[in-house]
Amino acid sequence: MKLVLGILVLVLPAWGQAEHVVQKNETLGGIAKRYGVSVQALQAINGISNPNFLFAGKKLKIPGGSLQKITYTIRKGDSLGSIANRFGVTQSALITFNQIKSPNLIKIGQKLVIPFKANPTKPTTLLSSSTMSSLNKISPRTGRWKRIVIHHSATPVDDAMNMHRVHKARGMRNGLAYHFVISNGSRKAYDGEVHIGDRWKKQLDGGHMKKLSDNKTSIGICLIGNFELRAPTAMQMKSLAGLCEYLMRHCRLGPSQVTTHKVHHPNHTVCPGKYFSLPSLRKRIS
Ligand SMILES: [Zn+2]
Repeated sequence: MKLVLGILVLVLPAWGQAEHVVQKNETLGGIAKRYGVSVQALQAINGISNPNFLFAGKKLKIPGGSLQKITYTIRKGDSLGSIANRFGVTQSALITFNQIKSPNLIKIGQKLVIPFKANPTKPTTLLSSSTMSSLNKISPRTGRWKRIVIHHSATPVDDAMNMHRVHKARGMRNGLAYHFVISNGSRKAYDGEVHIGDRWKKQLDGGHMKKLSDNKTSIGICLIGNFELRAPTAMQMKSLAGLCEYLMRHCRLGPSQVTTHKVHHPNHTVCPGKYFSLPSLRKRIS
């Protein structure tokens, strides 16, 4: 049994499952992190389809103990593989628990028992808690994002709001072409500060790639600095790794889908510069 102090209201009914009463300004992501469970597990066990509709006073069941079982109703577009992926279990565990004869014979509306460990995801520690709580208010559109593309601003001193104005003046209706900007500490932002752009908040196409089709599927992250002249700061790389880990987990991407502008378009750009190391980033997030 876990004892929690402070504003957490924890009730342990006879069968050993904890309950949490949602407090004002709490997010499902924040609650999940606090109890070391996944947002998906909380959603599934409480039957929440939209994590943004959470109100103060609502009682949430919190999965506890080592192995939990929850019931999941199969939705359109699901496969056994995608369900297994979402809950961090193996496909064979799903087949065994549900005595499924053929993995292709599952249908919408069918109920599955999902066994899962109480802590299926490792928490991100590289991002600040304020960045995490801002990120957790946004639901990424599942299946839409296929890769993360990293850029540099090519300017030694800059900030996201200035870039937003410049991009708007260049005729971009949605302004800032990137989904995220990571500061190097120049101007008013702190070193490693993550700016979450409107394009991410509203899940809009990027404007950072040449091809329209790439902008529809690529999450754009811009680090401020000119990395043809010097390397990004350690704090920028820490935030970038944390952001990539967050995005990989929520958009179901692997380290190989984290790339740079230059790697994606070798002939028309040097962005993000020769001092940016993609292999060392990939090693850090693997
Ligand atoms: Zn670029």
